[in-house]
Amino acid sequence: MEEPVLTIVVPCYNEEDVLPVTFNKLKEFLKGMIRRNDISGASRILFVDDGSKDDTWNLIYKESIKGEHIRGLKLARNVGHQNALLAGLFSAKDRSDCVISIDADLQDDIEVMREFIVKFKEGYEVVYGVRAKRDTDSFFKRTSAEGFYKLMRKMGVNLVYNHADYRLMSKRAVQELERYQESNLFLRGIVPLIGFQTTSVFYDRKERLAGETKYPLKKMLAFALDGITSFSVTPIRLVLLIGFISFFVSFLFGSYFLSLKFFGETETGWTSLITSIWLIGGLQLIGLGLVGEYIGKIYKETKRRPKYNVDIDLLSLGRPDIVDA
Ligand code: UDP
Ligand code: MG
Repeated sequence: MEEPVLTIVVPCYNEEDVLPVTFNKLKEFLKGMIRRNDISGASRILFVDDGSKDDTWNLIYKESIKGEHIRGLKLARNVGHQNALLAGLFSAKDRSDCVISIDADLQDDIEVMREFIVKFKEGYEVVYGVRAKRDTDSFFKRTSAEGFYKLMRKMGVNLVYNHADYRLMSKRAVQELERYQESNLFLRGIVPLIGFQTTSVFYDRKERLAGETKYPLKKMLAFALDGITSFSVTPIRLVLLIGFISFFVSFLFGSYFLSLKFFGETETGWTSLITSIWLIGGLQLIGLGLVGEYIGKIYKETKRRPKYNVDIDLLSLGRPDIVDA
């Protein structure tokens, strides 16, 4: 049997600090796999520059023209991790039998890719890398991530627990992924929807090699909200329920104060008045905000904007002994 052509896709945003190390580690690893005939010699690593402002693209370009196994794809602007990843996957799929996505900081154990390939050869179309332990993440990141998974599950969104975007997908799986046309693509939620034979491989996540996280709290919250609202309408139903409850409660309050007025003392409380104003106002704002969230989604979807724009594509850059599949 022919060995599969693998493309490792690495989205990069301002990663000049880690890239030199990442180039070497991934290249050595890929060569090792090729030597052992695990994968085809035409396999490569595709670095996607997600509109970085530092030296990232220059580094990628220089590595690409060396003619070894590294290739680059430059996006015209910053489109975020998920879309940069998609750009890489879609560009790579026609020249690959399978693709593996991994972050540039190599927090995920690259040795695990060997198991990915074994599973792929066994016939699995999607292989998830799952973090067994998270003790290198900060306490805050760990608990917030855990809360996120629990919340998502409650909302009926099926996510693979402790799986980030470290995964193998077959060419077929990526082709299916391409048929999902929504512009707000939350990969971890979509990939399980594709179906096919899937499995997981466990590993320990390490600390970032260098540089800083590109996911500060603000982005993490936005990511979580996006994930929830693109997959579930439960929040909007919840607001409706809260609305009903608060209506019922205020009805009770109202009748209580009315009965006081007629049968007891007439001192109506200023406190109860002001609190109920705030309560109702708050509820209305929450509701409005949520509705706005969904309308915003609809607005974005109706525009059908491209998810990314490619500036320079070095994927086809060839060398005689690397046969493009
Ligand atoms: N990334 C990207 N575009 C962005 C932000 C991040 O391509 O707008 C890349 C980044 O270079 C890295 C990956 O996405 O390869 C994950 O980012 P990071 O490691 O900072 O996230 P964390 O591991 O801290 O969640
Ligand atoms: Mg990281």
